[in-house]
Amino acid sequence: MEYITLHNGMQMPLLGFGTFQNTGEDCEKSVYTAIQSGYRLIDTAQAYGNEKQVGKAIKASGIERNELFIVTKVNFPSYDDTEQVVLESLEKLGTSYVDLVLLHWPFGNRYAAWRTLEKLQETGSIKAIGISNFEPDQMIDLIHFNKVIPVVNQIETNLYCQRQQEHQWLQKYGVAHMAYAPLGQGHRNEMFAQPEIVKLAKKYEKTAAQILLRFFTQQGIIVIPKSIHEERIKENIDSFDFKLTIDEIAALRNLDKNEPLIGKSENPEFVEFAMNW
Ligand code: NAP
Repeated sequence: MEYITLHNGMQMPLLGFGTFQNTGEDCEKSVYTAIQSGYRLIDTAQAYGNEKQVGKAIKASGIERNELFIVTKVNFPSYDDTEQVVLESLEKLGTSYVDLVLLHWPFGNRYAAWRTLEKLQETGSIKAIGISNFEPDQMIDLIHFNKVIPVVNQIETNLYCQRQQEHQWLQKYGVAHMAYAPLGQGHRNEMFAQPEIVKLAKKYEKTAAQILLRFFTQQGIIVIPKSIHEERIKENIDSFDFKLTIDEIAALRNLDKNEPLIGKSENPEFVEFAMNW
C-alpha cells in the first residue's frame, strides 16, 4: 500500500474499498474480504444504508481499530441534524471515532453542517473532515468562510472524467483528490477495452482495472473501487507492484473526455436521484 499525507498530517491509504450499492450480507462479506485482503481504508456513507454491515465486518475482522481508516458521509437532507446523525454513524459502525467525515453533496444548509463537523472534530469523535461533489468555486467559498480546510474532496474521477483542472484547484488549496467511481461504475466497460489500457495491461502483465487504478494512485489520487467479488477485491488492491512511465501517464491523460457519469444534469439517473429527495 502507498499513502498520502493529508494537510493535517494524517496518513491516508491511496487505495480503499468503496461500498456504494452494496448492502446486507454482500456488504458484510465483501468488507470482511477486503480487510482480510489488506484494505485498510473503507468508504461508506449514511446514504448507502450499510454502516451497520460495515461495522459488523470490521468487528469480525479482528483488526485493531487504529489500523483502519474509516470514511463516512453526512447527506444533505440531514445537514441541520449533523451532530445527531454523526453520533448515529458512530453507533452503527461500532466505533468511538471516525477517521474522516464528508459532506456528501454541496446542497442545503452545508455551512451549518460544516461548522458542526468542525466542532465534532475538536471533540475527537471525528479525526478529519472533508467534502464530496463540491465544484472548485463551492470548495473555495467554503474554505474562505470557515476555519477548517477540508482534507479531501471526493469527486467522480475515472479515465473519461479525470478532473485535471479541478485537481489543480485542489492542489492549490492543499485538499487531497479522492476519486469515486474510478472504474466508471462498471457501466463504462469500454474503459477496460480502451486500446492504450489493453496495451499497458499486456506490457505490465496486469489487468485493465489495475492499470486504471494505478494511473490515479501514481498521481497521488486516492481511489476507492467497489466490488462484491473476492477475485476482483484482491485484483484491485494488487496494483502497486509496477509503475507507469511519464509518457504512459501523459498518453492516458490525453484520453480524458471530461465526461462525468454522475451528478450532471443531463444524466437521467441523477435527475431521478435529485428529484426523489
Ligand atoms: P467503481 O468502483 O468505479 O465500479 C464498481 C463496479 O465495477 C462494480 O460494478 C464492480 O462489479 C465493477 N468492478 C470492480 N472491480 C472490477 C474489476 N477488477 N474488473 C471488472 N469490474 C470490476 O464504482 P462505484 O462503486 O460507484 O465507486 C466507488 C466508490 O466510490 C463507491 O463504492 C462509493 O464508496 C464511492 N462513491 C461516492 C460517491 C459520492 O457521491 N461521494 C458516488 C459514487 C461512489 P462487482 O461489484 O460486481 O464486482
